[in-house]
Amino acid sequence: MGNLKKIIVGNWKMNLNLHEAMELVKEISQGEEVAGSENEIIVAPPYLYLHPISEYLKHQPSKVKVAAQDVHYQANGAFTGKISCSMLADLGVNFSIVGHSEQRQHFHETDENVQRKAIQLLQHNLVPILCVGETLEERESNQLEKVIKNQVQKAFKEMKSEQAQRVILAYEPVWAIGTGKSSSGEDADEAHRFIRSCLESLYDGETAESIPILYGGSVKASNVESFYQKKNIDGVLVGGASLQADEFLKIIALSNSNGNSDGDK
Ligand code: PEP
Repeated sequence: MGNLKKIIVGNWKMNLNLHEAMELVKEISQGEEVAGSENEIIVAPPYLYLHPISEYLKHQPSKVKVAAQDVHYQANGAFTGKISCSMLADLGVNFSIVGHSEQRQHFHETDENVQRKAIQLLQHNLVPILCVGETLEERESNQLEKVIKNQVQKAFKEMKSEQAQRVILAYEPVWAIGTGKSSSGEDADEAHRFIRSCLESLYDGETAESIPILYGGSVKASNVESFYQKKNIDGVLVGGASLQADEFLKIIALSNSNGNSDGDK
């Protein structure tokens, strides 16, 4: 997907207290790497911090945007403990991660629910950051393509091309998340190329090209360039390394110096 902005998402997961979260967003949003960036910078704090962080950012000249880490697929109702799309929109949150492998693994998230969440988000003019990825077992038994194709087909079911073009996809091999073992740039690029071919079969070339595909899984400043330089990788979804302002700012700085026309683009 040549010459488009890169997207850098920091997923804070269930970390930090309120004070630490506010300090982190302040340091990131005030970083000169962010001020000078043409790229899209998004942070995904825990739900409880979405309000103070959105309020803080509203009053800053910063380009940092805010995502939720998940959302419910119903508009409202008796769903104790859940958060709806309209609640997120009300706070000025524009994105939500859906289908993260930790949700799939620990909380029985299904492909069907991921699709429902994505549709619900789009109906509220929010952007799904939709995660797919294979486990180590699936990779080792040569099922990577089958698994990814199935996840993509189910996630985009009944989604019109105009809607699909507003989705951000994230390829996150499960074995690479939080393990320190990242995919190689080449392997990730190949997986992204395959995902794009699945999108092309579902829609058409133009639609497939317009959907950004991020790589996630143990991304840090020391390996991020191997992803930025790849033709089919449009940005990164960063977990652990997004919890330290200086590390996350380095990842952003490197996105600024690795434009899409470089390397094997
Ligand atoms: C993630 O949470 O999506 C992630 C990729 O985590 P980490 O960077 O820590 O592997």
